Amino acid sequence: MNRETCLSFDRQDPLASVRDEFVLPEGVIYLDGNSLGALPRQTLPRMTQVIGEEWGSGLIRSWNAAHWIEAPARIGDKIARLIGAQAGEVIVADSTSVNLFKLLAEALRVQPERHFILTEASNFPTDLYVAQGLIELLGGNHALRVIERADIERSLDGSVAVLMLTHVDYASGEIHDMRGLTAAAQKFGALVLWDLSHSAGAVPVDLNAAQVDLAVGCGYKYLNGGPGAPAYLFVAKGLQGAIQSPLSGWMGHTAPFAFEPEYRPASGITRQLAGSPPILSMLALEVAIDLWLRVDQQEARRKSMALGDLFIKLVDETCHDLGVEVASPREARLRGSQVSLRHTEGYRVMRALIDRGVIGDFRAPDILRFGFSALYTRYVDVFDAVRRLREVLTSRAWNRPEYANRLPVT
Ligand SMILES: *Cc1c(COP(=O)(O)O)cnc(C)c1O
Repeated sequence: MNRETCLSFDRQDPLASVRDEFVLPEGVIYLDGNSLGALPRQTLPRMTQVIGEEWGSGLIRSWNAAHWIEAPARIGDKIARLIGAQAGEVIVADSTSVNLFKLLAEALRVQPERHFILTEASNFPTDLYVAQGLIELLGGNHALRVIERADIERSLDGSVAVLMLTHVDYASGEIHDMRGLTAAAQKFGALVLWDLSHSAGAVPVDLNAAQVDLAVGCGYKYLNGGPGAPAYLFVAKGLQGAIQSPLSGWMGHTAPFAFEPEYRPASGITRQLAGSPPILSMLALEVAIDLWLRVDQQEARRKSMALGDLFIKLVDETCHDLGVEVASPREARLRGSQVSLRHTEGYRVMRALIDRGVIGDFRAPDILRFGFSALYTRYVDVFDAVRRLREVLTSRAWNRPEYANRLPVT
């Protein structure tokens, strides 16, 4: 495998032109779209328009005239098309953590005879923390049952209120069998909540086909919505009568501008709104979603699998004796749009790589994470990234005192 071959893959890539839709800095190989997606070219002009015209000139009139008030549901309907949901099943709101809290709280409230949230130990920390806080708030009638990945199916029983899992593991990239686990939990009458933060924009998701009950997901990773972009949540149509929101704010009221003293939830997914939507962030996210809707998701999946396979092959060929080990499934169909490597000095290796223009990230204790966004990563980027990784490892360039200090964000 040489650089010329990778360049020829790029020439044949049906998604090659999508890269031009992004602003990417010169001299940087960006393999961290799994943490913060790159900036779509249309976002800046759209933001200039939203701030200058819609806010600056339209002022409060823009809630109606520029359809700001409809943004959470409108963008939710667009995301629904990316994750196999119907219009009216998804809304954009809050952060993933807050949306998890809302849906977990409701999953427990509507099933008072069931006492457990079941999840796996390797779930993303915020998912575990939110469940812990909720259980504490509820005062001792519930518990979080945390088990190993291999034990999920055999830990299901009639006391489980909700099975809460992240579809694509943030550290290893391993994909859960969404359809199989959803069916297994529902056989015991449990609700199932999937976190799609590393799925949407990375692997095809079909919530309706898997008959999923509840889901949440993140807007700033593979979806490219911008730093801290609003998140989204999904409630299956059949559950929308029962599932309310514990954050019963005015935007989820059936008539927010009637200013009634009593809370009456809106029908459908709108009741999941609490306060005023962050319009600037929402409309930046919408630019990115509109771009995704123009891309063939199966094609994107094919490319991201090929990029991951290429990365593993090159690491095997050129770095096998240098202390790194592949920590993701080697079989592309079992892996999200990332490949993780293990190295005992992983943090310092990543810092040295970033200083050489290859941006990935580090997850404690020893994971180097490389994300392959199909929209803007080229095959030649993968080749060059592995070559620089090899240079860092052979030269021990990571062994510098300044790399020992952990920055606040890794
Ligand atoms: C990134 C991520 C989140 C992010 O939560 P926020 O509250 O939006 O910051 C949550 N869950 C998983 C699995 C993630 O990967």
